[in-house]
Amino acid sequence: QAGDTRAAQIPRYARVNTMMWTLDDAVKYFTSQGFTPGTPPFSESIKTFAYDAHIPNLLLFPPHTTFHDDAAYKSGKLILQDKASCFPAVVLAPPARKDAFVIDATAAPGNKTTHLSALMQNMGKLYAFERDQKRFGTLTMMLSRAGCKNVEPLNADFLTVDPSDPKFAKVTHILLDPSCSGSGIVNRLDHLLETEEENQEALDDRLTKLASFQLMMIKHAMKFPKVGKIVYSTCSIHATENEGVVGAALLSDEAKAGGFALAPREDVLLQWQRRGVPGEMAVPEDAESLIRCSPGEDATNGFFVSCFVRGVAQSKKRK
Ligand code: SAM
Repeated sequence: QAGDTRAAQIPRYARVNTMMWTLDDAVKYFTSQGFTPGTPPFSESIKTFAYDAHIPNLLLFPPHTTFHDDAAYKSGKLILQDKASCFPAVVLAPPARKDAFVIDATAAPGNKTTHLSALMQNMGKLYAFERDQKRFGTLTMMLSRAGCKNVEPLNADFLTVDPSDPKFAKVTHILLDPSCSGSGIVNRLDHLLETEEENQEALDDRLTKLASFQLMMIKHAMKFPKVGKIVYSTCSIHATENEGVVGAALLSDEAKAGGFALAPREDVLLQWQRRGVPGEMAVPEDAESLIRCSPGEDATNGFFVSCFVRGVAQSKKRK
């Protein structure tokens, strides 16, 4: 099964939680544990690590490295998070200021929430919504373990939140990482088998329903009065949930009313080479603003990232 091989090639990624220690501290710690700096692809027989080329404070280890008994992991100093899943918070780039107001609309288990909190240097206010009660429990546990002091977790459906509620009047940045098909995740073989058995019609139906929910989430985020930047991401490889949703969001009344357009490539991990699929966009050049990660080719899971900003002129071809 292809998923097996691809999963075996993905390095073990560990994000250094900079709210608890520094990258230098982490490197000293791993060095004292017998790890030496190396370059991927790693040999499994050597205890080694490397610095990630795109994400600050992210370390790579050989794919089968385990951290479950590691003291740094257990104390929240390390967050085990795939490289691609670190992109959304970096692209959102929330401010690190006392008067910063940010929303993570779909937070559990909290990998991206803890990342946002770290980028905000534990300052300002980060509202983290999670509608599922059980997953909300996991989120609060993770926030406490990671030492997040600027996060207010809310066990609520983001779609029921009133954008004109004064509590959210100063929110400028929103992260949307909603439920998706999960088709990009290569280490969950159960999922791959499941989709293989699903016929095309059933899959299309499922994707259409997911896409309509995902679009609703983006449109809702666009209604917050002061929001200037919205990052939408999925761990799906299907254009229906990715370029399709982004294209529909750009054409929505909410985008027009709010003056939202895609952020230019320069502001969306410029150095990352794999971009959106041009043929899936009404304006093919818009694909340059989008990020894709291909499982098996990018040493990550399959992933998609887009970034909407307010007040940037729409591409001439769409006008
Ligand atoms: N961002 C998370 C992370 O990096 O750890 C993963 C988020 S997961 C893909 C999507 C989450 O959104 C699920 O926990 C799901 O229960 C939650 N969710 C889905 N719809 C929601 C809604 N309308 N409001 C709040 N949470 C929602």
